[in-house]
Amino acid sequence: MTIDALWFDPAETGIGGAWRPASQTLPIEDPSTGCEIGALARGGAAEIDAAVAAARAALSGTWGRMDAAGRGRILARIGALVSARAEDLARIEAQDVGKPLAQARADAHALARYMEFYGGAADKVTGQTIPYRDGYTVYTLREPHGVTGHIVPWNYPMQIVGRSVGAALAMGNACVLKPAEEASLTALAFCRLAEEAGLPPGALNVVPGTGEEAGAALAAHSGIGHLSFTGSLATGRLVQAAAAANVVPVTLELGGKSPQIVFADADLEAALPLLVGAGVQNAGQTCSAASRILVERRLFDAVVEAMAARYRALGVGPALSDPDVGPLISARQKAVVGRYLAMAPAGSIVARGRIAADAPAGGHYVAPALIAGPGPDHPLAREEIFGPVQVVLPFDDEEEAVAIANGTDYGLVAAVWTADGARQMRMARRLRAGQVFLNDYGAGGGVELPFGGRGLSGHGREKGVEALYGFSVVKTVAARHG
Ligand code: NAD
Repeated sequence: MTIDALWFDPAETGIGGAWRPASQTLPIEDPSTGCEIGALARGGAAEIDAAVAAARAALSGTWGRMDAAGRGRILARIGALVSARAEDLARIEAQDVGKPLAQARADAHALARYMEFYGGAADKVTGQTIPYRDGYTVYTLREPHGVTGHIVPWNYPMQIVGRSVGAALAMGNACVLKPAEEASLTALAFCRLAEEAGLPPGALNVVPGTGEEAGAALAAHSGIGHLSFTGSLATGRLVQAAAAANVVPVTLELGGKSPQIVFADADLEAALPLLVGAGVQNAGQTCSAASRILVERRLFDAVVEAMAARYRALGVGPALSDPDVGPLISARQKAVVGRYLAMAPAGSIVARGRIAADAPAGGHYVAPALIAGPGPDHPLAREEIFGPVQVVLPFDDEEEAVAIANGTDYGLVAAVWTADGARQMRMARRLRAGQVFLNDYGAGGGVELPFGGRGLSGHGREKGVEALYGFSVVKTVAARHG
């Protein structure tokens, strides 16, 4: 089996502008078939060391001396190349992640858009002048951290690489990227395109490999100045502890159990596609998946029935056939979801999607499941499942809706559906989440919108202009001139 549209060798690492075969490899699996389709570079501590050294060299070379406008122009050129190759990137991602083609195309366009956005923003971040004592002039400079580490998960490789590497490069950092072992292909493709666009050697280095080897080596490296981690809570804790030993600042983008809250006066026709869509997008493997739907009690049965009808119409199948829902990433993830579904009380699964009859037997397919019945304290309603499973919960009034919505340890995204403007404003303030959507659900939203968690969903913000502050550090200059 080969990978359709692949134009480079994924068994190579990209360090300091040189592409070299790694001494070991990992199998690449197509989640739609369960078949091995290639070999991926398996870097470890030695490659991470070399990548950090190459990044440091870039900072004292052409890249470190380049002005902000020059960095912006390169990012814009990368964006143009990504756009030109969007269809290839989407096909590669579909086979590597099991992502339906339409979603993979959207991710490729988002990657291009991140480059365009951060390319345009590179020369627009300014410092301050600060009124101080008589005889002084005080101003601030925004400087890069130096070498930034980027550890990325498998669920949205292109979007997450775009948002974190794009912002870091815009601010003049040099990056070491460690993509997920389950899905590294588009990260490698992106680095090839960045090189083609004229990014100087060493400004962006990529070392695929396992979390325990390459990931842990990067998190614990004393040569990095900042670490951006997106992934699970368990790994986030390890990574933050490793970085703490070197007093390296960390951005943690972790999981969620995000609610959509539907009041009885909501426009249900507008809400329904997003109530379901934001739960099953990417087979529910989305940090900001709307995995809890809270419905005002007098509308509860009607919403459950309308969602159930949509669930019954959901088609599940191979990614390249562009189904509503693709396979899960791995047999392991399928087993996790299976364990959660086994916890559902008898009769509480009200509807399932349909797996296509000709879906390959080795693919990791799960028919989406809509659950109504378990209370807000049930593990199905509190824990991140990371599969196409949504739980619907009733509430009686605004007070109870807030209590249930804020009642998990997570706080990533929330949505409120109501026609009452005053209630919209109250709810937006009271919900504990990094993003709140009113009469919409953006699953993280556009590249312009700052994104990040509260509580166990993490800390720090990526995306939008806000990310540029995270990927830079303030220096205060105080001149006494009398
Ligand atoms: P994961 O934590 O298993 O892996 C994420 C990355 O960390 C991978 O690159 C992996 O190789 C690496 N890693 C694993 N062990 C490591 C270690 N000991 N040291 C350093 N790095 C290590 O997560 P996952 O299963 O790939 O991703 C799913 C999780 O990511 C979910 O919880 C999801 O909610 C979260 N996520 C969050 C966001 C967000 O923006 N908040 C976005 C996407 C995914």
